[in-house]
Amino acid sequence: MITVEENQINVISNKATNGGILDRDEIVYLYDEVDIKDLAILARKITDSITGRQVSFVSNMILNYTNICNVRCNFCAFYRTGSEEDSYTMSPIDVAKRVKLFNDNYGIRQLLIQGGVNPELELDYYTDLFKTIKEMVPQVGINGLSTSEISFIARKEKMSVEDVLVALRESGLETIPGAGAEIFSNDVRKILRRPPRSGQQWLDVMETAHRIGIQTSSTMMFGHVENSYHRADHLLALLELQKKYNGFLSFTPWNFEPGNTELEREGLVTERVGGEEVLRNIAISRIVLNRHIPIIQSSWLTNGVEMGQIALMFGANDWGGTIYDERVIPATGKQVGNLRKDTIIRSIKNIGMIPVERDNRYKIIETNS
Ligand code: SF4
Repeated sequence: MITVEENQINVISNKATNGGILDRDEIVYLYDEVDIKDLAILARKITDSITGRQVSFVSNMILNYTNICNVRCNFCAFYRTGSEEDSYTMSPIDVAKRVKLFNDNYGIRQLLIQGGVNPELELDYYTDLFKTIKEMVPQVGINGLSTSEISFIARKEKMSVEDVLVALRESGLETIPGAGAEIFSNDVRKILRRPPRSGQQWLDVMETAHRIGIQTSSTMMFGHVENSYHRADHLLALLELQKKYNGFLSFTPWNFEPGNTELEREGLVTERVGGEEVLRNIAISRIVLNRHIPIIQSSWLTNGVEMGQIALMFGANDWGGTIYDERVIPATGKQVGNLRKDTIIRSIKNIGMIPVERDNRYKIIETNS
């Protein structure tokens, strides 16, 4: 006899494997009730039908051009107000030289470039920044800025977001990373001390980008003050936008790192979530986003190489990138080190999957079978 629970997971499983979109209650059910083993099997089945055993990765460099930020989120250990000794802003030429140095050594395909919302920087700084990088290292795809940085530039310059994006694209910006999505709910964002309506602002900037043909990534930061309903609503909001322009290339679920943050000091979040919760989020995001957002990243950066490998078994199909110069995660006190291409290829092959190297737009450029 089939139990009510078995029947419920069968219904969800049939719907998901046929590419259907789950409703809010079904997603919450996956979060709160379903055994992690069942999630893994369903998530991997869906991934196999999209990209088979292939796992993509990119030769990437992360560069944080400034740590000065006037938003001051209480979950962030990276920002400085500008008066501290260790606050900094790099000049466009220094950024470009650094990218060239790494490119000469490692052959970079993607530059993830983000900073704080630095009130001193004008649109000209960014257009100069991207042009200088492209002049010095033309083959690098620039994946740059958060929606907060883009919105601030628009307000500072009294321009529309669309006009700012057009200017940034003309100077070399190729794609926009998904940072800043956190959890869209206003109630959660109030506790995280994100500006009011900043969740909707994230969606609005992304929609504008997608409408004019700039593709982006998407993210969710979990493991702080949110619940399963907030996560479900977040994933459904991404799907709703994806239906309009198909502009999201990928999704990365990040677990919150409380070290050195206000949230930790205030006692609101004292520990990071465990591995089970990380894997549950990987699997559920694959089941919910399905083939509509075909790439799920393993988020190895906050969880280590071994968890990155297990995440692939739970439905992720992109490793993310090599790491050569990351400063945001180390600001929380967690050391991530550098991760070279050969280590990624070996880690993927070790679990019987096929590493494929991609570019910034997820186009496959080499299979390392
Ligand atoms: S998360 Fe981003 S916007 Fe918030 S304080 Fe840190 S750098 Fe600023």
